[in-house]
Amino acid sequence: MKKFLKEFKEFALKGNVMDMAVGVIIGAAFGNIVTALTKDFINPLINSIGGANFGGKIHLPWTGTGENAQYLLWGDFLTQVINFVIMAFCIFVMVKAVNKLMSIGKKEEVSDPTEKTCPYCQSKISIKATRCPHCTSQLQ
Ligand SMILES: [Zn+2]
Repeated sequence: MKKFLKEFKEFALKGNVMDMAVGVIIGAAFGNIVTALTKDFINPLINSIGGANFGGKIHLPWTGTGENAQYLLWGDFLTQVINFVIMAFCIFVMVKAVNKLMSIGKKEEVSDPTEKTCPYCQSKISIKATRCPHCTSQLQ
């Protein structure tokens, strides 16, 4: 049992597991915010403009009335779809921002070249060269 606890501790304290846990917690909190945004702000606004009803449901006539009656809860479904679209858009924006940050580091490397290509023999030569070491052509 002691060994098991020790192994678990090593596993839990690894950096990537902690990162993942933080990601899951932030993701869950973020999901709650998006749900609240849709439910408390967007649904009432759409209801007030278009007269759509997010509590809307359609009775399936063949299920009869009373306790056995079944409904298509399209209002709930539409709310979930709106939640998904907002989440997907936010994740897209975040991924785009992260990609941009990553590409800034790469561009700095490219913007400081140490080599150029000789226009006469296409050899890689020093950026400071005034005469090509391969074909001896004079360079500007
Ligand atoms: Zn050359």
